Amino acid sequence: MSNQSGRVLPEVTGESRDFWAGGFEGELRIYRCQSCRGWIHPPVGACWQCRSLDVGPEVASGKGTVAAFTVNHHPWLPAFPPPYVIAAVELEEQPGLRLTTCLVECDIDEVVVGMPVEVVFDEQDDVAIPFFKPVRA
Ligand SMILES: [Zn+2]
Repeated sequence: MSNQSGRVLPEVTGESRDFWAGGFEGELRIYRCQSCRGWIHPPVGACWQCRSLDVGPEVASGKGTVAAFTVNHHPWLPAFPPPYVIAAVELEEQPGLRLTTCLVECDIDEVVVGMPVEVVFDEQDDVAIPFFKPVRA
C-alpha cells in the first residue's frame, strides 16, 4: 500500500491500531501486560513473558536511546531520499524494549549508539508513524 507521496504505509491490524493511531494524540502507545507489567513490542495478543492474555496499549514516554543503527544509502522510498538512518531505539521503559524506526532531524555523522532520542510523529493518511530525533540539550 502506498499513498500519493510514494511512501509505503504500514498495514494497520487490530493489535497495532493503537500504535499507529496514538501519534495523532501525541502518544506513543505500546502494549503492556497487565499481569506482570512487562512492555511488549511489536503488539501481540498475549504476553510472551507470563502468557497472560490481559494485554493492551499504554502510553510510553517516547524517550529512549539508540541501541543500534545503520545508514541507508539506497533510494527505497521516493519520498525519503537517502542517506537516512534506520535505528533500533530502546525505550527507557524497559531494557530490550526496542522499536525499529528512522532517525530524523539529525546529521548522520552525529548518530552514535547510546544517543538520547525522543519520538516525533509523521502523519500519513490514517497512520502516525513514530520516528525519533535527538534530544537537544
Ligand atoms: Zn506478562
